[in-house]
Amino acid sequence: MINESFKSHILALQAGALLDAETYTWLIDTARVDSDLRDWLCDQASALRDQVYGRRVFFRGLIEFSNFCANDCYYCGIRAGNTAVNRYRLSDGDILASCQTGYELGYRTFVLQSGEDPFYTDDKMIEIITAIRTTYPDCAITLSLGEKDKASYQRFFDAGANRYLLRHESATPEHYAMLHPAELDLINRKRCLYDLKEIGFQTGAGFMVGPPGQTSTHLANDLIFLRELQPHMVGIGPFMPASNTPFAHEKPGTVEDTLVMVALTRLTLPQALIPATTALGSLDHKGREKGLKAGANVVMPNLTPTTNRKDYSLYDGKICTGDEAAECRVCIENRIRSVGFDIDLSRGDHATYNP
Ligand code: SAH
Repeated sequence: MINESFKSHILALQAGALLDAETYTWLIDTARVDSDLRDWLCDQASALRDQVYGRRVFFRGLIEFSNFCANDCYYCGIRAGNTAVNRYRLSDGDILASCQTGYELGYRTFVLQSGEDPFYTDDKMIEIITAIRTTYPDCAITLSLGEKDKASYQRFFDAGANRYLLRHESATPEHYAMLHPAELDLINRKRCLYDLKEIGFQTGAGFMVGPPGQTSTHLANDLIFLRELQPHMVGIGPFMPASNTPFAHEKPGTVEDTLVMVALTRLTLPQALIPATTALGSLDHKGREKGLKAGANVVMPNLTPTTNRKDYSLYDGKICTGDEAAECRVCIENRIRSVGFDIDLSRGDHATYNP
């Protein structure tokens, strides 16, 4: 009975039905405890990804260019209040050298991620974006710098940035407030996401699975918010505790719950670009492979210079902190092939993108 009801809801979702929060909650609660249904769910999501994008997995070269942060998110290892962090900023030359390494490895998307670092004024960011845009006209530039005014986002876009990642973190205001200090609020976070979409960025939202206080109803609300926003990308990873943060001693999220959310996100947004995240690979040595098998289709190998990588420590136990970029490329490529996927080194734009 449960099986039939579960499968009929999933088939309806796949056919475009708009599920309500209660139904999503029931699906999440059912799949997280039933491994057969979970496997079936992941297979459905994987088959849908195959229909839209095939078996191709897109590569994004990640450059973590500053770990200074003005914010104090309770979960995050590089929060302002963590005095144990060894803070760094890459020079413009280091950023461009990281792009060069990535370009030689075949990557055609660079993701510039940092804490919310006031050192990088809009003018400074525009200098960096312009330099990358001029040197690599064939590459996509993705930014992940946090919350800004619409005018700043517009200037970044005009300078040549194409995409922006800003996870919404939690679409339920009370839960958002359990994860962030009072200065940060969900209304502004959502405002940023809608502004980014309006400007024309391929926009990424997303959330962690299993941070303190999260219920399956919150996760259902995340899916409903994603359906409203229609982002181009969705980042989903397990919460992982980080030392010297208020959540240092909390339990991590689980692989199973994360896979359920990846699969339900694929079924809700068939055309989304969904990474098999580093956090999932850090929780389980086959986590990224499992993510691909649950409907993900992007990987984000690290291009940050190895000397700085261990200091961009969002959570404890982050993988790939010692590997050279070329080793990351080979390792990820082997993992992708091992589960029957092909590597795709094109820019990997969203299915609806028209240049
Ligand atoms: N400052 C940027 C980048 C943040 S780091 C911004 O605000 O968007 C990128 C993502 O890492 C965050 O959005 C968060 O969802 C995730 N993250 C941070 N701390 C984490 C933790 N302890 N466990 C798992 N993921 C974490």
